[in-house]
Amino acid sequence: EMLDLTLVAATDATLPAEPAEVRHLIAGEWRASADGATFDRRSPAHGVVVTRAAKGGVAETEAAIAAARQAFDDGRWSELSGKERATLLLRVADLIDRDRERIARVETLEAGKPIAQSRAEIEGAADLWRYAAALARTLSGDSHNSLGRDILGVVLKEPIGVAAIICPWNFPFLIVSQKLPFALAAGCAAVVKPSEMTPSTTVILGELLMEAGLPAGVCNIVLGFGDPVGALMTTDPRVDMVTFTGSTGVGKAIVAAAAPTLKKVSLELGGKNPQVIFPDADLDGAVDAIVFGVYFNAGECCNSGSRIIVHEDVAEEVTARVVALSRKVAFGDPLNEATKVGAIVSPEHQAKIDGYVKGAVAAGATVRLGGAALDVPGLGGQFYQPTVVAGVTPDMAIAREEVFGPVLSVLTFRTMEEAVSLTNAASYGLSAGVWSENVHTCLAFARAARAGTVWTNTWMDGFAELPFGGVKESGQGRELGRYGLEEFLEVKTVQMRIGRTRTPWVAAG
Ligand code: NAD
Repeated sequence: EMLDLTLVAATDATLPAEPAEVRHLIAGEWRASADGATFDRRSPAHGVVVTRAAKGGVAETEAAIAAARQAFDDGRWSELSGKERATLLLRVADLIDRDRERIARVETLEAGKPIAQSRAEIEGAADLWRYAAALARTLSGDSHNSLGRDILGVVLKEPIGVAAIICPWNFPFLIVSQKLPFALAAGCAAVVKPSEMTPSTTVILGELLMEAGLPAGVCNIVLGFGDPVGALMTTDPRVDMVTFTGSTGVGKAIVAAAAPTLKKVSLELGGKNPQVIFPDADLDGAVDAIVFGVYFNAGECCNSGSRIIVHEDVAEEVTARVVALSRKVAFGDPLNEATKVGAIVSPEHQAKIDGYVKGAVAAGATVRLGGAALDVPGLGGQFYQPTVVAGVTPDMAIAREEVFGPVLSVLTFRTMEEAVSLTNAASYGLSAGVWSENVHTCLAFARAARAGTVWTNTWMDGFAELPFGGVKESGQGRELGRYGLEEFLEVKTVQMRIGRTRTPWVAAG
């Protein structure tokens, strides 16, 4: 059978001859692990080792936490003015812009995402550093001048302390930039753990922080795995909060691990995000957004539009048009400028994606496109075909669970009530979308959908100013916007009596 897809074969771009060696950043110094342990990362598109990273153990994690604690407590950063903190964050943003090409190439080699997309993400990340710099100068609490003439109440916002920042592999530089600049703007110190799949761009960020003049110990980076690095970051009493982006399973484990010390926990987890298409929708726009929503970042995206819920009257037309447009999406070598979709992050993850498709077929669904590994000429990594699965029913795993691959599930509806009920049937609640030319339809859906973000007649737009996060099992807390800063702040109430106006409790005589 002829595969009528758009493939981008291997470029002649040279791969690194030697893996890049990266180390921990602890108390302002670059350190190997005490026991010399390292781990390797292969480019998921090319199959060659591109990174050799120090593998953090208990010693490195404890040293990083101690450094952050000391840096926070002695006020070297937390007691600077908002202006001083903002000035440094702006300098970091400029350095990210300066090094965009270098960071983007490393991101593509470790994560498998297209180079043009990496570049856009690094540019977007610099914007987040600038936005956080602006927020650093808006930090303020409340004053209460209406409590009677004898009392002035002041509510202070203070940095929460030491923040543990644990990141996933799918948007390594962007996600650390949704957390770290906000933590730093608030005055916190941090211990950062990038994913073991994508350590290097966080290390580059550490280099830029040092170059910009961030005091030693304010941001520490430990490379390694959930066990023991991530686990210690979530249990150590010297850590005041954990902000985590990753899978729902690990998110739940982190809440349990943080419970004995009652740390604050912010979580950005998975999603099963639907786009609902009404018959009066602009179908050209909807079909393009469906294709973008499901294939962007190879579907390895918390915001993946992994299911569509289409009105029965247009279901066949929409499905056929999605299949036709899917064939035009350029899959292949992420180092090629023309590529829109790159590699799958690991062979294990590729097998998991395929398992969902095979399971759906066994349960009675129909594969309308793809449904198998994709062979890209000249490349040694793993790729998956653009895949459209129709005839999906709400009970199937593919309709409820996060596939995290380039796989679309098609479900149908007849009434608004049905569309809302299918939307809200998932245990996730990250994002949802609605397509209709009728503003009443869009608003009714937007208010009824249980999701942290609702898009109407668009998909996956994002702005530094707008908060992002999930409800239900998609997480707790918010990133970006003013709310993104609030996560790293604690509230202190100061009650000030004016004059000797306090009524004695005991008559002293
Ligand atoms: P993951 O949960 O496997 O790993 C995330 C991070 O947690 C990694 O750094 C890992 O080393 C660490 N970790 C693993 N076990 C740990 C433990 N017990 N304690 C502490 N840390 C531990 O997730 P992933 O596979 O890297 O990323 C994919 C997931 O992330 C998907 O489910 C996706 O939906 C989600 N995600 C969510 C958002 C969002 O904003 N909502 C964004 C991107 C990704």
